[in-house]
Amino acid sequence: MSLSFTVTERSDRLPDAEREAILADPGFGKRFTDHMVRATWTRDGGWHDAQVTAYGPFQLDPAAAVLHYAQEIFEGMKAYRHADGSVWTFRPEANAARWNRSAQRLALPGMEEADFIGALKALVEVDKAWVPDSTSGEASLYLRPFMFASEAFLGVRPAEEVTFSVIASPAGSYFTGGLKPVSLWISEHFSRAGKGGTGAAKCGGNYAASLAAQIEAAENGCDQSVFLDSLEQKYIEELGGMNVFLVHKDGRLVTPSLTGSILEGVTRSSILELAKDLDLEPEERKISLEEWRADAESGEITEAFACGTAAVVTPIGRLVSTQGEFRTGPEGEGGPVASKIRKALLDVQTGRAEDTRGWLTRLA
Ligand SMILES: *Cc1c(COP(=O)(O)O)cnc(C)c1O
Repeated sequence: MSLSFTVTERSDRLPDAEREAILADPGFGKRFTDHMVRATWTRDGGWHDAQVTAYGPFQLDPAAAVLHYAQEIFEGMKAYRHADGSVWTFRPEANAARWNRSAQRLALPGMEEADFIGALKALVEVDKAWVPDSTSGEASLYLRPFMFASEAFLGVRPAEEVTFSVIASPAGSYFTGGLKPVSLWISEHFSRAGKGGTGAAKCGGNYAASLAAQIEAAENGCDQSVFLDSLEQKYIEELGGMNVFLVHKDGRLVTPSLTGSILEGVTRSSILELAKDLDLEPEERKISLEEWRADAESGEITEAFACGTAAVVTPIGRLVSTQGEFRTGPEGEGGPVASKIRKALLDVQTGRAEDTRGWLTRLA
């Protein structure tokens, strides 16, 4: 059965001029639209009380299981306004499928793809005015579906009451004035995820586990951390919230194969599919840090980049560890392959190029 969302529009929406001022310089994840989606699941009643309502705080019992045992998952996607004013999102079926895989791993209830996408549509329909114009850039409305154990119970078992929500936040260009390569700290003390753990699920706990490494990165003058496999501390896995690609001089585009502890990014899989169109040869396999270092130093690897919904494609400039550092791409604005891939993805997402793969779904 599919869910229908009861819409209760607030009468005190943010005035147009104030909303426009936010859209002119939204930053990331700081400002939220007028409304949100909420729904409740109970073991006995399934999903119910699906609604679009005024954005505002949850009332949570201090014993809510999520606050103690972190039973929570989320997703991240973007809505783009095309030239004709219509609003579209990118491969939401892939996010819905990943949502259900994450839910299963965290012992949370599943949701039908139609309901998951229906929730996005219901919210964007009401808050359509918050979707920035993306015809000449990459501004978007970032959509954040999430669900958590809201049952008040301190026993350890899957919660029997769960809250689902979607919030939305306008996002500007991640990079203003050209791509800026990030520097990465190679985390030797901390792992993000291990064999049999939750690394392949999009859950808040993985992010909590990555923060100490993030602090270490900052202390060493780096922007982000890159994590190695937890077993041997030898093979590249990913960043705290982005997958990694290496570009070889012969056109091979290599990314770590999925191990169970790497998050399967929608951007990652889209780049693997797009590669051929761009005269690149995609390859998924194990990549050791040593190989990365040697091939970057010899010039065999010409560029490296990270990818994910939020920043699309981000060039990687330097890698730093206690052993020293090496450069893995050109100085300045990053390499041509990262730019080409970034443009190809954004052109489809924003409607500047034809959507030949049926990747777009209209939200409003
Ligand atoms: C969300 C996420 C990514 C990127 O996934 P996309 O679907 O491309 O946005 C990569 N790694 C981690 C750990 C993530 O949580």
